[in-house]
Amino acid sequence: MVHPLKEEEMKEHETVSHKPEAKYSYTAGQALSAFLLGLKQGKIIGRKCPKCGRVYVPPRMYCEDCFYPTSQWIEVQDEGIVMTAVASFISWTRDRLEEPEIVGTIRLFPSSARDYVYPGLFHRICCSFDDVKTMRILGKMVKAKWRPQEKRVGSVDDIECFEVI
Ligand SMILES: [Zn+2]
Repeated sequence: MVHPLKEEEMKEHETVSHKPEAKYSYTAGQALSAFLLGLKQGKIIGRKCPKCGRVYVPPRMYCEDCFYPTSQWIEVQDEGIVMTAVASFISWTRDRLEEPEIVGTIRLFPSSARDYVYPGLFHRICCSFDDVKTMRILGKMVKAKWRPQEKRVGSVDDIECFEVI
């Protein structure tokens, strides 16, 4: 029978703790590079599928539904609707947080009524833990809170969070 080691059993064995100094360099690729450069300029851009009309934000070079190459860059609004929200007590670096960070999916509004923005941007939401527990935040209209222009670097953090409007 297999069972996980108990805390006292762990002490019976020599253990080694090591935090590697690993650094990674990652190429964003054609679609995400344009998306990040757009953020630096205070714009949220996606790619539109010519067949079904979906606008992908973050952008994709191929439509996940039609398998058609997306063909057009489209700027979408920096406002949308909260579709999902979760309170995370673990930081991006896996540290325990006393105050939760609220993250979720925001379905952004298209710039044109003909477009449909898909699937939604995953980002921080500036709201309380209580807003999440009571699910009050779901369906709320939110708007991007941008960093000042001189502090933007072409990163998803150029948007601090999405605030309820
Ligand atoms: Zn499509």
